[in-house]
Amino acid sequence: MLKGKVAVVTGSTSGIGLGIARALAGQGADVMLNGFGDAAGIEALRAGMEREFGVRVRHNGDDLARSDGGGAVVRDAEARLGAVDVLVNNAGIQHVSPVDEFPLDRWDAVIAINLSAVFHGIRAALPGMRARGWGRIINIASVHGLVASVNKAAYIAAKHGVIGLTRTVALEAAETGITCNAICPGWVLTPLVQAQIDARAAERGIPAAQASAEILSEKQPSKAFTTTQQLGGLAVFLCSPAAVNITGTSLPVDGGWTAQ
Ligand code: NAD
Repeated sequence: MLKGKVAVVTGSTSGIGLGIARALAGQGADVMLNGFGDAAGIEALRAGMEREFGVRVRHNGDDLARSDGGGAVVRDAEARLGAVDVLVNNAGIQHVSPVDEFPLDRWDAVIAINLSAVFHGIRAALPGMRARGWGRIINIASVHGLVASVNKAAYIAAKHGVIGLTRTVALEAAETGITCNAICPGWVLTPLVQAQIDARAAERGIPAAQASAEILSEKQPSKAFTTTQQLGGLAVFLCSPAAVNITGTSLPVDGGWTAQ
């Protein structure tokens, strides 16, 4: 379905971004990976995807916290793979702290990576998508773009911002063949969430399995983690002809979290 198209997926060396990058490559898209990690491991991942899916895969290691980092990734993809048709703004970090103790540098980093980089990436990709009359922008927000929890002020502010940005871009691009949507996962078992499980286990002196069961039962009625493959499937659907008139939406994939 996406043969001949180029997709950029930020933060795709692990977790949800990797799941989405693999799903898009599985549909024939050439993919620009972005994110951190050990160089040999990333090269193995990149070459493995090329072999498995028969597409071109490149890696960009830019830090999205840098000013216009999101724009730099898009321009690098244009230079090395060609015009960008699908932009998945996925990279994100978390910091957990009460608001009155929130470290200022963590606030700045979360806003830069989780919100400003999304703006910069979209700003860089839109002109080319407009010129070709087709584009899919998928922003990985969170249930925390729709509702709040304690101790995640920067993350929740950024994710609410991503949903507002998604709606604005959808309206501005409404007649251009470009759609812009947000996916709002609840708990997905990735390194980002594993760190929160491990922190809770250490704090309370309980096994990681118990901490994991607790975080699910507090928020996610299905009591099951969403998988990165399921989110990859949703991203592919948003690129499909069936989704051509879906734009400006925020789609929860949260086992019922936001139905409560
Ligand atoms: P993860 O930690 O597994 O992966 C994050 C990716 O972003 C990695 O590839 C990392 O290298 C990259 N990254 C981090 N900082 C970066 C930077 N400054 N510049 C470039 N790349 C950077 O995280 P994840 O759980 O897969 O989360 C991915 C996205 O999904 C995030 O936006 C997160 O907020 C969102 N999300 C996750 C969950 C969950 O339960 N895991 C739930 C809702 C939303």
